[in-house]
Amino acid sequence: MRIGAHVDSTDPLAEASAREADAVQFFLSDPQGWKAPKPREDAAQLRDAEVDVYVHAPYVINVATLNNRIRIPSRKLLLAHAGAAATVGAKGLVVHGGHVNAGDDLAVGFDNWRKTFAYAADSGGFEVPVLIENTAGGENACARRLDALARLWDAVGEYEVGFCLDTCHAHAGGEELLGLVDRVKAITGRIDLVHANNSKGGFDSGQDRHDNLGGGTIDPDLVVAVIRAAGAPVVVETPGGVDGQADDIAFLREQLGTERPAA
Ligand SMILES: [Zn+2]
Repeated sequence: MRIGAHVDSTDPLAEASAREADAVQFFLSDPQGWKAPKPREDAAQLRDAEVDVYVHAPYVINVATLNNRIRIPSRKLLLAHAGAAATVGAKGLVVHGGHVNAGDDLAVGFDNWRKTFAYAADSGGFEVPVLIENTAGGENACARRLDALARLWDAVGEYEVGFCLDTCHAHAGGEELLGLVDRVKAITGRIDLVHANNSKGGFDSGQDRHDNLGGGTIDPDLVVAVIRAAGAPVVVETPGGVDGQADDIAFLREQLGTERPAA
């Protein structure tokens, strides 16, 4: 089982080796900005690396919103990121499920997701799998609770869509981790990646505040159980830099009884 971390984008392979990670996730541009990703000088090294690469799309992307001035650039930026993610050999592009504004019809938000995949298909398709991630907060989210996730999958199910399960977001979003993987897979049919994070916020707090696996309000054994049930690669998005994340990775390897694959 591949276990890695979300790291700074300057030198992801160095960050991976500092954490003894065999997977790595990073941003290709400012996560709070709308700039298209620039070509990377280390694209060939990343493509050829033993380490599995995942890209996280910018947080500003919200393809669900009814606001044209956000939705249209979001679609374009997501497509651009999928292209750029392919150049670094990424196994997937993680993007948050998004939301509609208060008072707007969530059904339109789900249909906007469908249109996003239709738009991409018209442009030749996403060049890497798009992994929609569950989110922690908001009352108008497309992928916070599983009832919404089921409606989202009804809308996009005709396309090839992946799923990234974040344990912090699920717990803070109000979904019990016990048995969660089966409930998610009943909807999506798949989990492509697990974001293994503890949560500073309590159950159903709506707070997106990650903590190290041994801290926070989630029993770490539950995070391990989710990973085991999902059988998918894992990325920790936890605080504490190299030391904090290396400890979290080592903890997971110990609990899961997995060795780091020989390089
Ligand atoms: Zn996450």
